[in-house]
Amino acid sequence: MAKLVHVIGAGISGLSAAVRLANAGYRVHVHEATQQAGGRCRSYFDAATNLTIDNGNHLLLSGNRHALAYARSIGTEAGLVGPSSARFPFVDLGTGKRWQLDLGDGRLPLWVFDKKRRVPDTALADYLALSPLIWASPRKRVGDAIGCAGTLYDRLVQPLLLAALNVDPPEGSAGLAGAIVRETLLAGGQACRPLIAREGLSAVLVEPAVRLLHDKGESVLFGHEVRALDIAGNRVGGLKFGDDAVTLGPDDAVVMAVPPRPAAALLPGLKTPSKFRAIVNAHFRFEPAEGQSPILGVVGGLVEWLFAFPGRLSVTISNADRLVDRPREELAQAIWAEIRSAAGVEGELPPWQVVRERRATFEATPEQNALRPGAVTPHKNLFLAGDWTDTGLPATIEGSVRSGDRAAELVMAMR
Ligand SMILES: Cc1cc2nc3c(=O)[nH]c(=O)nc-3n(C[C@H](O)[C@H](O)[C@H](O)COP(=O)(O)OP(=O)(O)OC[C@H]3O[C@@H](n4cnc5c(N)ncnc54)[C@H](O)[C@@H]3O)c2cc1C
Repeated sequence: MAKLVHVIGAGISGLSAAVRLANAGYRVHVHEATQQAGGRCRSYFDAATNLTIDNGNHLLLSGNRHALAYARSIGTEAGLVGPSSARFPFVDLGTGKRWQLDLGDGRLPLWVFDKKRRVPDTALADYLALSPLIWASPRKRVGDAIGCAGTLYDRLVQPLLLAALNVDPPEGSAGLAGAIVRETLLAGGQACRPLIAREGLSAVLVEPAVRLLHDKGESVLFGHEVRALDIAGNRVGGLKFGDDAVTLGPDDAVVMAVPPRPAAALLPGLKTPSKFRAIVNAHFRFEPAEGQSPILGVVGGLVEWLFAFPGRLSVTISNADRLVDRPREELAQAIWAEIRSAAGVEGELPPWQVVRERRATFEATPEQNALRPGAVTPHKNLFLAGDWTDTGLPATIEGSVRSGDRAAELVMAMR
């Protein structure tokens, strides 16, 4: 049994590995380069809106079983809130049409047989035409597997896959899209209930994990960037930081849960995805109307998803490289105009913040997906975690937790 595990990186992947290991009785030291845990999934106080906001709106689904188990293990599953069944209201800004997709709460996608619950103006045959995606080869693009046009594509497939893959769906990996379809649409409404960390990402998914680790006597060190791995034969013998270093005991292990670039710098020769895509989020200080849906799908505009939080409206725009250099004020104005018509609200531009995460996710194309390494490395006490490792899923919280769980299991199986 490993005596001590060093986890490098306190994002969701690193935290989930650390919590799993600490709960299994391992000593854990987490080393985080920045002053805050959470990585790409974090909250912070924003002076422009005078609100605590998340770096990006994160949507989970009730079928994200590893993510939910992680939240349960840190005592915050109840902090992920959503409607009692999988209902998604949508609006088309181009036509003004509104509809609700009602996937129900069953284990089977029976809603596709019910004309009243299907996407308006679609037929059963449109859904059957998606079947080549279900077990598509990882070498194929979505556009090679299914037709990327038509009402069902515009109103459901495109919004779902754009959000999940963070690339324009036709260029996306059909293998990853297939995993999403299997775990969401095909798994019935029971797996598709939208869940949001209403009190904020850090309060629900990050800080409780850090507290749990502290309470167990484990350490989470901030501003403690790992600068080099000391490789001794076929194992990691030590870690070097800016001013200090640690030597590993013979049974000690390392879980490296950092993004691809620092991972490749720490482990030369490691194959990693090398292309990334941006996500833009905009937050507005505005009290949503009573009864406004917590999540609204928007098609036919810039905005893709509109989230209503207490005191705040927030939008998400995926695959947003085209927007990262656009003047922020101009973007805020354009987005606010769309919110006004999507949510039917009045008023001048309220206090706002635009957050542009340039490297939000790896590019979920077949080429980049093929560059994802597994958790095992040539070094017998070093394991990889991260949403960009080969989880079988796109870069998501669910994929991150799966990678953390897998790395923890490999540590536990070490001899
Ligand atoms: C704007 C945005 C919106 C998103 N929306 C969704 C969504 O709706 N649903 C969903 O499921 N997912 C979403 N995601 C994806 C999700 O946030 C990520 O998949 C997940 O947070 C990745 O976690 P991670 O731990 O693998 O990596 P990271 O969060 O990148 O964590 C890596 C950590 O390692 C640290 N680090 C780096 N180098 C070192 C070093 N040398 N030493 C020590 N520490 C180091 C970093 O500081 C960081 O804290 C979104 C992401 C973004 C950016």
